[in-house]
Amino acid sequence: MSWTLKKKAQALLAAEEGTVQKDWGGRIAVALVYPNAYSVGMSNLGFQTIYRHLNELPDVVCERVFLPDPAEAAELARTRTAPFSLESQRPLGDFHMIGFSVTYEGDYINVLRILELAGIPLRVGDRRSHDPLVLMGGVCAFSNPEPIAPFMDFVVVGEGEELVGELIAAYREQYRDRESFLDLLTALPGVYVPERYEARYAEDGALVDVVALGGAPAVVTKRRLRDVNAFRTIAAVKTPNAEYGHMALLEVGKGCGRGCRFCLEGQVYRPVRHRSVQALSDTIKQLAAEGEKRIGLVGACVSDYPWIGELLKVVEDHGMELSISSLRADSLTDDLAASLARGGHRTLTIAPEAGTERLRRAIRKAITDEQILGACDIVRAHGIPNLKTYFMIGQPTETDEDVAAIPALARRMLERLRVLDPQGRPFGRLTLSISSFVPKPWTPFQWAPFAGAEALSRKLATIKQGVGGLATVRVLHENPREAALQALLARGDRRVGDFLEAAARLGGDWRRALREWDGDLEFHTTRARALDERLPWDHFEVGVKKAGLRREWERALAADAVPAGAA
Ligand code: SF4
Repeated sequence: MSWTLKKKAQALLAAEEGTVQKDWGGRIAVALVYPNAYSVGMSNLGFQTIYRHLNELPDVVCERVFLPDPAEAAELARTRTAPFSLESQRPLGDFHMIGFSVTYEGDYINVLRILELAGIPLRVGDRRSHDPLVLMGGVCAFSNPEPIAPFMDFVVVGEGEELVGELIAAYREQYRDRESFLDLLTALPGVYVPERYEARYAEDGALVDVVALGGAPAVVTKRRLRDVNAFRTIAAVKTPNAEYGHMALLEVGKGCGRGCRFCLEGQVYRPVRHRSVQALSDTIKQLAAEGEKRIGLVGACVSDYPWIGELLKVVEDHGMELSISSLRADSLTDDLAASLARGGHRTLTIAPEAGTERLRRAIRKAITDEQILGACDIVRAHGIPNLKTYFMIGQPTETDEDVAAIPALARRMLERLRVLDPQGRPFGRLTLSISSFVPKPWTPFQWAPFAGAEALSRKLATIKQGVGGLATVRVLHENPREAALQALLARGDRRVGDFLEAAARLGGDWRRALREWDGDLEFHTTRARALDERLPWDHFEVGVKKAGLRREWERALAADAVPAGAA
């Protein structure tokens, strides 16, 4: 055991409120792993919710594990220490189950690095009878888990609140050995046991079938929480060491009804289910009584919550400050901005996604330039000094004009932010956060090609040049090569598992792993998919019909939305 790391863990625990410490005696031990830093994992409400639910079960002890940073990983290796849980500081190998909560495909490599540091064989077929069961949940689990499937004993497909209780009951009552337990799980709706499926490929490399073996269902159906009011979704543990650790996060519902064509969340969490204003108000009142001062509302699109006005009143009546995770420019109101300003908000975020109204229509995020500029007026009028905007480049049908329109729109936004400054000085800061479009499974754009790192770099250069000289505009963006990695992991099939394994063995050096991998990056990323092609995620059912996606894809490409010469 490394004493340095032990002390670090104790310091994190000492700063927390709400940590659950349970005795292990006779209990089912579950390690809940967030495959990224503590500060990121502790800001994730889904991770926190599962931690709470598991620990509410009397015969379960659930403890948290996070990705060690490079210095910590070196210390683990130097002292021959396996990654350990925060609460009891037991090594991962001591647990009955290791559950990874994965919300971002880029963390797949971290999943394998953690298993490797723990001395747990990566491939399911290499595991021994005494190794813990390794499972995964989170949105990646029901988007496309195939690249990481060879390393998972089972995958929780869908919203886990109800399913975790059923899984534990099955383990408690019927676990005899690994094989028979996995047999049992194939019959549990919402559980995917990858080794019970065989992928078949044509000579040209195309995936032709995924065959269910030994009585496993041909299609795995996502579990959906029927009554969102039945479970409180609120952070269990507060910590100053997380981005949103200083406030109580509260989920207002699941899903979003807007149907933007690039958006995974807008598709896979359907139908939209809002928590009742009564249930949320009760929770807010209880939090206020416990002395809570700040509340953060979380959801796919919080400003669309139908009773947002009532909720704001409850928050304010209890003297609490408000924070909000996501807004749409067309549902930002004066009341909401005023409430956020009173809550001390210094930055407001909106996501126009594209520089032109035409492209916004094509991606079905049909907000107008005037609505975006109107949002600038509201932000400025309420004294919120910073506006952050999200744009996405490389989307289907995008032209050079669409890209050039982003800095042009930024200049107009800046005018509106500036014009209202009483002293005529530049007011606050406008941030353009530019992400690269990655075609996601289960969206109408799932057939579209990824633009490629070089094309994306050129688009970024256009934007940076376009805002050059504007001191109050800041451009943030990811490296387009990282977007290419994300495209590979979001769209790949099981063969991509070889790349993941190589990247983990190289200590996370995915660039080198890509060079050494004998797979074809372009095949999985920049290739447009034919409408009748078998997709790696076709043996799942998440409640989104392919015919509807196809209709939406064809509408996006329809002549009235697409200028001549667009891809
Ligand atoms: S409004 Fe936001 S959350 Fe809703 S579908 Fe569009 S991008 Fe997704």
